[in-house]
Amino acid sequence: MLNRRKFITLTAASAYLTTLTDKVLAKTKEPLKSPLPVVISTWDFGVAANQGAWSILKKGGRALDAVEAGARIPEADMKNHSVGRAGYPDRDGHVTLDACIMDEQGNCGSVAAMENIAHPISVARLVMEKTPHVMLAGDGATQFAVENGFKNEKLLTPESEKAWKEWLKTAKYEPTINSENKDYKLGNKYNHDTIGMLALDAKGNISGACTTSGMAWKLHGRVGDSPIIGAGLYVDNEVGGATSTGVGEEVIRNVGSFLVVELMRQGHSPQEACEAAVKRIIKKKPEIAKKIQVGFLAINKKGEYGAYAIQEGFSYAVCNAEKQDLLIKGESFYK
Ligand code: ASP
Repeated sequence: MLNRRKFITLTAASAYLTTLTDKVLAKTKEPLKSPLPVVISTWDFGVAANQGAWSILKKGGRALDAVEAGARIPEADMKNHSVGRAGYPDRDGHVTLDACIMDEQGNCGSVAAMENIAHPISVARLVMEKTPHVMLAGDGATQFAVENGFKNEKLLTPESEKAWKEWLKTAKYEPTINSENKDYKLGNKYNHDTIGMLALDAKGNISGACTTSGMAWKLHGRVGDSPIIGAGLYVDNEVGGATSTGVGEEVIRNVGSFLVVELMRQGHSPQEACEAAVKRIIKKKPEIAKKIQVGFLAINKKGEYGAYAIQEGFSYAVCNAEKQDLLIKGESFYK
């Protein structure tokens, strides 16, 4: 039983927390809203990825099929060095891919640090649908993919190899802030970014996908937020979904996407929830946060969506029956 003193202390603590939360979550503005079906994705390359998802959604298809098809587009893009087959390698020259997927029933699948397989998102889906597990990592993930008919192939492209050898000259691990605004095509200068995608189908069911090659030049075996359910991606068919991009370590430390969904569950708009999650990262590690990028993107079951990032330059793409190539500049803490 609580004694009186403990009770007073607890009441004061929860009052303080409420004020803090209220302050962070002060109503921003009317949320942006889309008709259903809709798909939203991180970064400029989300526009092309959304097309893949839209080809399924527009025919009344399932959100899960849509996000898988959408995520496969940047995974196959030879100019995209932060997702899929042309992704930059780790410090030792290995291309290791991370991805996860989650459906409207709370089923999820994931692969982490997987080598030699070009479409990690499809392997993640198979893990979800064909195994009793959620996550397969490293050689085990590759083995599972090969056993299920995926091609085992070398992923390090000549371009990526060249960039890696250039990096080896200094071998400094310094994540750049953004790879946005199509500059990701410029090569070695930029070294991360993930496609996080959320779709609501015509039935109003939600699914999400997240896929990346992670931070370029990372330590071999490093896994970021992107394949971790709750960190890089989380969906809940009662509430909505969220996904993240940027330096995954800070997202994992704060279980970012789960936090955004839980804030939406409490009644906050997607935009407000993303903002609160970003501010929590900044509050915990202000010095680190000044130098890195983290962005969240979220949508609720009504089709309201929003995003927020630490740094300027985060973009996201929205696609629905009204417009298929909308690209929006996300708001940020630092301007
Ligand atoms: N979140 C990814 C990771 O940490 C990278 C990114 O989105 O920029 O692996």
